[in-house]
Amino acid sequence: MSSNDLSNSVISPLGDRFKSDNFNGTVWLNMLTPFGTACPIGNVTFEPGCRNNWHKHAGGQILLVTGGRGYYQEWGKPARELHAGDVVNIPADVKHWHGAAKDSWFVHLAIEVNSEKGPATWLEPVSDEAYNPLK
Ligand code: MN
Repeated sequence: MSSNDLSNSVISPLGDRFKSDNFNGTVWLNMLTPFGTACPIGNVTFEPGCRNNWHKHAGGQILLVTGGRGYYQEWGKPARELHAGDVVNIPADVKHWHGAAKDSWFVHLAIEVNSEKGPATWLEPVSDEAYNPLK
């Protein structure tokens, strides 16, 4: 399967375009759980080149990658390339970003854990100097 073949890598509908200043491109969000649940799960689809700003989750987050190719990076560490089947366990309050590779769609389920600890804190965009060297 080509990493660009989005249709083969989606396990739930795209959902709606998610308009947010915390992403540098087009992203779709399909919330799979009801509003107010203790463990919100969203299906997030990034267009090629799209990533979110640096941010941190008060209670942590788990990413289950379902399709395409993308990256996860923690502040001060090298970026980790991600493919379908990869799991990222993001500890509480760790500054990070996630998003698509330049030439590929990227789809993950985002699971907010310990959501009672509060929402995400959004920080600065990922610089071109940090993103552009990634393949
Ligand atoms: Mn996150």
